[in-house]
Amino acid sequence: MSENTKPDPGFNTRIIHSEYAAPDGFAAFPVGIHHASTVLFDNVAAMRERSWQDKSGYTYGLHGTPTSFTLEGRLAEIEHGEHCLLTPSGLAAITLVNMAFLQSGDHVLIPDNVYGPSRDQADWLARSFGVKVSYYHPLIGAGIAELIEENTRLIWVEAPGSVSMEVPDVPAICAAAHARGVLVALDNTWSAGIAFAAFEHGVDIIMQALTKYQSGGSDVLMGAVITRDVALNTRLQMAHMRLGFGVGMDDVYLVLRNLPTMQIRFNAHDQSARKIAAWLANRPEISKVLHPALPACPGHDIWQRDFTGAAGLFSVLFDAKYGEEQTDRFVDSLKLFKLGYSWGGAHSLCVPYRMQYMRSNWAESGILVRFNIGLEDTQDLIVDIEQALATLS
Ligand SMILES: *Cc1c(COP(=O)(O)O)cnc(C)c1O
Repeated sequence: MSENTKPDPGFNTRIIHSEYAAPDGFAAFPVGIHHASTVLFDNVAAMRERSWQDKSGYTYGLHGTPTSFTLEGRLAEIEHGEHCLLTPSGLAAITLVNMAFLQSGDHVLIPDNVYGPSRDQADWLARSFGVKVSYYHPLIGAGIAELIEENTRLIWVEAPGSVSMEVPDVPAICAAAHARGVLVALDNTWSAGIAFAAFEHGVDIIMQALTKYQSGGSDVLMGAVITRDVALNTRLQMAHMRLGFGVGMDDVYLVLRNLPTMQIRFNAHDQSARKIAAWLANRPEISKVLHPALPACPGHDIWQRDFTGAAGLFSVLFDAKYGEEQTDRFVDSLKLFKLGYSWGGAHSLCVPYRMQYMRSNWAESGILVRFNIGLEDTQDLIVDIEQALATLS
């Protein structure tokens, strides 16, 4: 080897800097899975110029790749919004909203029927971070005006509450909030963004647990926060960056893969759940069916006014003569309905709740059991519930 000839690169260098590139021009329906921590720049000037905030380019994996931008874009479209940020879980989406819009000394209003871990987080914000937290009755409607204080910054709404199912008057709460310059954030997971047009009803910030119907596979944990207003989105982006909320692109892909069938699945869950809820309403063992589409559900009239469909998630109250031993036996006797948290997948689930530990004022008697109606044949699910009810007597 003469001194002027460059040595051949070694194996490691060659394999790392391989010159082969697949041809351009590939087209197919699936969105590509672009993994990245490092994102490359052509030169220093390009690196300094690139902004992660306006989404016109890519800077670092934490701020997104074409895969996550695509999911964010599609979720914003579903909700008729403009901006979307993905988070590692639905609960992380709630965290993102709280961190972006609350600071020490601020006041936040939260419905008493809120998703349990959200309540626990709010109590933590109160205990350790100097945020004042008040819980309001989910059916308060315009009466929320009386609870708004000088330092109220945010009102959370859940429509309906995902265990006790009260349907709140979202437009009335938004009108009262906006009259005082307060933001309204909605946990819109139950409607999947399909059955409730949140922005049209006045909401400022939508949160979704994509873990449910958007994924539909009982396999992914992910959340999203959607807005229309660029200033709100910028606040959220800053908090998102500071919290380091990245998502895995394989998981993003799984959600993208199931999104085209979401409305068809949602409608199938809805139809089956309404049949089962109506059947349960006629059973002597059940004192009340808490399904927003049935008249016994608190806020049913508001659901009729504001919603275009229902999820496959609803609850029942057993007759007060049955104790926990009996209702636990009911749940344990189910065969097709499995016992486990979360919902929105193909498999039916059933979970008993101890409402007295979850709510400030729980007035109902009778034990609450929640059903997630999956995609099994409706008649088979009814037969399963019927045989489990038979164990009560
Ligand atoms: C599941 C759920 C969440 C949280 O989603 P995770 O991805 O499990 O953290 C939030 N709100 C509601 C209404 C939910 O059902």
